[in-house]
Amino acid sequence: MAITIKSPREIELMRESCKLLAKVHDDLGKAIRPGMTTWEIDKMGEKMIRDLGCVPNFLNYNGFPGSICVSVNEEVVHGIPSKRKVLKEGDIVSLDAGLIYKGYHSDSARTHAVGKISKECEDLIRVTEECFWEGVKYARAGNHLYDISNAIDAHATKHGYGIVRELVGHGIGTALHEDPQIPNFAQTRRGPKLYPGMTICIEPMINMGRADVEWLDDDWTVVAEDGLPSAHYENTILITEGDPEILTLL
Ligand code: MG
Ligand code: MG
Repeated sequence: MAITIKSPREIELMRESCKLLAKVHDDLGKAIRPGMTTWEIDKMGEKMIRDLGCVPNFLNYNGFPGSICVSVNEEVVHGIPSKRKVLKEGDIVSLDAGLIYKGYHSDSARTHAVGKISKECEDLIRVTEECFWEGVKYARAGNHLYDISNAIDAHATKHGYGIVRELVGHGIGTALHEDPQIPNFAQTRRGPKLYPGMTICIEPMINMGRADVEWLDDDWTVVAEDGLPSAHYENTILITEGDPEILTLL
């Protein structure tokens, strides 16, 4: 599949889809408390999305059983919401969510502290977000896709963190996952050129320890093999003639 360039009308629909998702993330983030189950977070998020007249795009995606991926501590991504999984003080929890508005997808992720967390976890969350911003600096027409990957890699590596390689960012539009794939680790080639009208998801997944991950027997949950915490930060962005637009931030 070729990389799609969105028309002005499509860009308007993407903007709206992403703005609605930003509101869902903000409200969900504020609701995080010790004692909640990851199932409650999912149900709350699904209701918010449906109340906006939208559809959760993760629900039933390749059979995923939730609307929000809720990944706790060493879980990197794709944590399945569960009534048995209770958040406790000191945990970190990554919420990955997306929705469909008038046929257009949005996708973003945040890692939140549950109550008071360690300095090490605070640093991990902050640096993961910084990795996104380092990548975004290169998300400009005329640059190449892997300029973004290289910038993310340089920042995470400087802090001694492991960069997850098995999962990557992606294009987005009328499908949740479109071309191109956007690795978070350094590439030897520069990759496709960036043009105005591309909408892409930049989403560093950064481990406190080693980069290696494994899949749990539920076939979904990706965990850090060494059991150390992992963080995730993602926004849907638009490449323009000038500065990139971060569509999933209010
Ligand atoms: Mg994504
Ligand atoms: Mg996502």
